[in-house]
Amino acid sequence: MIVAGCDIGSTTAKAVLMEDNNILAKILFPIENGPRESAILLFEKIKEQTGIPPEKIDMVCGTGYGDKNIPYAKIMESEIVCHAKGALYLNSNIRTIIDIGGQDAKVSRIDEYGNIERYLYNDKCASGTGRFLEIVADVLDVSITELEKLHKNATKEIKLSNQCVVFVESEVISLLNNGEEAENIVKGMHMALASRVASMAFSIGVVSEIAFTGGVAQNKGMVYSLEKVLKTKLFVHEDCQVMGALGAAIIAKERAL
Ligand code: ADP
Repeated sequence: MIVAGCDIGSTTAKAVLMEDNNILAKILFPIENGPRESAILLFEKIKEQTGIPPEKIDMVCGTGYGDKNIPYAKIMESEIVCHAKGALYLNSNIRTIIDIGGQDAKVSRIDEYGNIERYLYNDKCASGTGRFLEIVADVLDVSITELEKLHKNATKEIKLSNQCVVFVESEVISLLNNGEEAENIVKGMHMALASRVASMAFSIGVVSEIAFTGGVAQNKGMVYSLEKVLKTKLFVHEDCQVMGALGAAIIAKERAL
């Protein structure tokens, strides 16, 4: 049986195509022309990579902010459920999931079957999301992928006093004007974001093992900072950003049976 999970997020489109337990394709690209066009493009890319047209896919599960735009999706599931499904599939010991995406952050606690016991969601305040990192990266004139290198070269951590993205831009500019190093500002920024997301996790109760998912988990500086605040090692898979699409593909398989 061939199944697909498609995740139309706020900043990136993702898909995972599976045949039985084998992953046939993983697709990820930034959303540029709107959610509908991106969803259509996901299926074009699946066909390009595997030769499998949408009609040959037995079941498609959609998830994410733009899930209503996904053609061929017979079922939809929340991102929280999908990330949990994906993380548990890769590591059966996972009981807490921390997902930081482009415009939101979510924490959830699950039982051994993947049922959601508690969760918390922040899409109101950008300071607790990947957007915060993007704003600081813009001010420092570096790409989002360079942040972890800067963090690694830091000699100290500068505490940012502003929690709000509206003010952080001017704070970073004045820190630079005062001669502070970009490396140390980045380390402080990672710690600020990690502390905000960790406080969400603490409020629902953190149970080991913890998976860190979403695009922001690609950033090793953020992994280091979250591990420091949570005082524990995190499970971070190379597929952290497509975790929701992977979970959706597994749900598609379960529902198709
Ligand atoms: P969404 O589903 O909301 O689109 P994602 O989980 O795809 O979110 O994550 C997108 C976020 O991940 C963006 O804020 C982006 O800046 C961040 N991101 C992606 N890759 C990296 C990376 N290599 N280093 C740091 N941040 C990254």
